[in-house]
Amino acid sequence: MIKPVPHVAGMGAYALADLGGADTISLAQNESAFPASPAAIAAGRRAMTNLPLYPDPEWPDLRAVIAEVHQLEPDMILCGAGSMELIGCLIRAYAGPGDRVLGTDYGYAFVSSASAQVQADYVKAREVDLTVSVGDILGAVRPDTRIVFVCNPGNPTGTLISNAEIISLRAALPVGVMLVVDQAYAEFSDAENDPKEIFALAGRGDTVVMRTMSKAYGLAGARVGWGYFPPAIAGEVRKLLNPNNISIPSQAAAAAAMRDQDHMRDVVAKTALVRDRFAVDCRAMGLTAPQSHTNFVLLRFGSVEQAQAADQALRTENLLMRGMGGYGLPDCLRATICGPDIMDRARDVLKGVLT
Ligand code: PMP
Repeated sequence: MIKPVPHVAGMGAYALADLGGADTISLAQNESAFPASPAAIAAGRRAMTNLPLYPDPEWPDLRAVIAEVHQLEPDMILCGAGSMELIGCLIRAYAGPGDRVLGTDYGYAFVSSASAQVQADYVKAREVDLTVSVGDILGAVRPDTRIVFVCNPGNPTGTLISNAEIISLRAALPVGVMLVVDQAYAEFSDAENDPKEIFALAGRGDTVVMRTMSKAYGLAGARVGWGYFPPAIAGEVRKLLNPNNISIPSQAAAAAAMRDQDHMRDVVAKTALVRDRFAVDCRAMGLTAPQSHTNFVLLRFGSVEQAQAADQALRTENLLMRGMGGYGLPDCLRATICGPDIMDRARDVLKGVLT
């Protein structure tokens, strides 16, 4: 038998969401409820005529428009086939066997897989009330800690900590420990938390900020993420990225989507309206739901059995939320916000289970 290297043989496959059958409506992957900007779709279509060519490895137009919109240095921006690619390459560049990568209780699960790929140990600091706790992160740092990942707003909790807390975390972390602030959902909270304060941390040389086009821009299928990197870190990560990592149509669609900030803001506002109404309805039925700053809501049931019964009832109606057992929250389901009709259907199914 042909054998893989031992640490790969010992790894589990990355657990993607259960997507159900062909008729299933997914409320499981935090995709956008609304289509991408029409300008993005048109740009992606036009770019299909360029498919005989390889994509530009420097993502020039996309990088320029990200820099312009966020008032950032283009040279410090790297783009990935989803922010997943950037997270994976960052861990490969800065952690190795026996090193520690520190996340939090409910941090992004892929960080754990990417750490296992390089034989680094992924450990979690406690969260308090489903919210990142700076004190607990600092208490969990050890001399072999290389990277700290904080997801803000959090997934699967939807909770948010302030910029001041992130800045105080960075100031208190030892020199030589990299901080990665994963802001995959930040477009849903930018109005509350000035994004410039967090991007500015990259200027220190030890902090990376990650963003994605997969959520608020409705481009999960295009696979485009980006990050703001100190130049020295960008140089190392660049060596590990696949050279032509983002297809020509995806680069074109993402650049046009980024240019259309009005569309993105409209999606964020519409999503928040549906989300907050759904959360209010769920709380009125006796569920616990922390205030979300994202495009999903975490629902906590009265018991694990009740969460399982809700999952079953939803599946019977071809609706699928994400089970949270993998995060140690088996009494919870995470509901991605879809259009109002779907959320009303989901609410009615939950009502049937709870009454
Ligand atoms: N970070 C978080 C917290 C996420 O939830 C996700 C996607 N679910 C990602 C990063 C990766 O997103 P993408 O690879 O689509 O950019």
